[in-house]
Amino acid sequence: GVPITLHILFFQTVASPPSSNFLLLGPSGAGKTAFTTLLEAKSSLSSNKSHSTHTSQQSTLVTVTLPPTVPTGSNRYRSVNDPSLKEATRNPIRYRVRDTPGHGKLRASQGISELQTMSQSKDIKTRLRGVVFMVDTAALVDEATLRDTATYLHDVLLFLQKRAKNGSSSKRTTDIPVLVAANKQDLFTALPPGAVREKLEAEIDRIRKSKTKGLLDASEDTGLEEEEEILGNDEQEAFSFKLLEHEAGVKVDVVGGAVKGDLQEEFGSGVRRWEEWVGMCL
Ligand code: GDP
Repeated sequence: GVPITLHILFFQTVASPPSSNFLLLGPSGAGKTAFTTLLEAKSSLSSNKSHSTHTSQQSTLVTVTLPPTVPTGSNRYRSVNDPSLKEATRNPIRYRVRDTPGHGKLRASQGISELQTMSQSKDIKTRLRGVVFMVDTAALVDEATLRDTATYLHDVLLFLQKRAKNGSSSKRTTDIPVLVAANKQDLFTALPPGAVREKLEAEIDRIRKSKTKGLLDASEDTGLEEEEEILGNDEQEAFSFKLLEHEAGVKVDVVGGAVKGDLQEEFGSGVRRWEEWVGMCL
């Protein structure tokens, strides 16, 4: 029995538990389910697991692996000749993604409450490392979709801004960065990431303005001074993700990609740059 016992012990020390959580948010139809399914398929782990099926109704938590060639934040300059690459191939970095489905008005509140729960984790092993907010870049030309998407993103960012502000300096809250995954770049009707950023920023600015106005009107009616926080704090300046980072320390990146389509073949993977973003959070 001795050799077997040793073998088991060795295996347990090598296979590190997945300890980094990411939350996947965004309107329905953006590609969240397709993305988690793809990540699972790309992960070697999925090969020895029974195939899991995703429906658009349930929240799922999947464990996936980062491709060995994707650098991580703690190992930024991993080169092809680096011995740590071999190690990464043998023992890939694992992380977990929680997909938040749901429809219509429900899904935004479901997503926000998931964000609340996950971001409150005090355990360094299970704490939330980042939020991936997925958008369908071919659908944003539609005004209602743009408004819907921007409202959801606004609420996510306002939550993160409040969270960052409430963290006292002694018990510093760790940053939770946001990736706006500009999906479906394979479609010829897709807006490029730069335009997606501009559209979302302009729409969030409009949402901010109408919220401020609503509050002013309400306080005139009641005579009460309602102190409600404004996303990005500075109301004089037009809203931008840069402003939000500067004012509130909430970092937002907009990065293009595609879960499906030709991009997969063209760039090896249409989700590579999102995986690189994930890697930088680790
Ligand atoms: P969810 O509601 O956010 O989970 O969205 P789904 O994953 O169900 O995707 C909605 C639809 O978009 C499905 O028909 C997907 O096949 C499709 N889809 C997802 N990603 C892409 C993409 O990158 N390009 C294209 N052309 N279609 C995509």
